[in-house]
Amino acid sequence: MNFEMLNGYILEYFYYVFIGLLFINIFVGFKGKDFSKRIPLILIALLFFLVYVSAVLTKVKNLPVYLPTVFFILLFGTSFTLFRERFFPYRFKCAKCGKNLKWENILLEEGYVCNACKGADEDAKGEETEEGEDRGEE
Ligand SMILES: [Zn+2]
Repeated sequence: MNFEMLNGYILEYFYYVFIGLLFINIFVGFKGKDFSKRIPLILIALLFFLVYVSAVLTKVKNLPVYLPTVFFILLFGTSFTLFRERFFPYRFKCAKCGKNLKWENILLEEGYVCNACKGADEDAKGEETEEGEDRGEE
C-alpha cells in the first residue's frame, strides 16, 4: 500500500461515493421533516468530494503524493471528532429502552426510538388526541 495506490482509489471511487450519497438524499424515503438526518449525508458527501478534488489537483499539478491521504485524515478526523454532532449525529440504540435500532430507525425516521417504543408512544398519543387527529386528516 502506497500513496499512489491510495490516490488511485480516491480518483476511482470517491466521486461515485459523493454522487451516491447525494442520490440517497434525493431518492431515499426520509420520513417526517427531520432534516437533521439528511444534512449529515450531504456534509459527508462534500468531504468525499473535497478529497476527490485534492486527488485530482495532486495529479494535475504534480503535488506531493501524500497530500490527498493527509487531507482525507485531517478532514474526516476533525469533522467526526470536533464536529461530530453535525457530521455523525446518528445513534444506534433506542433512546427509550436502549435496544439496538434498525437501520431505518437510525437513518430515515425522526428521532432515535425503536419500533416497539414508537408503537407504544403512538397508542398513547392516539388515545389522548383522537378527535384532533381525525379532524386533521380529513
Ligand atoms: Zn425502544
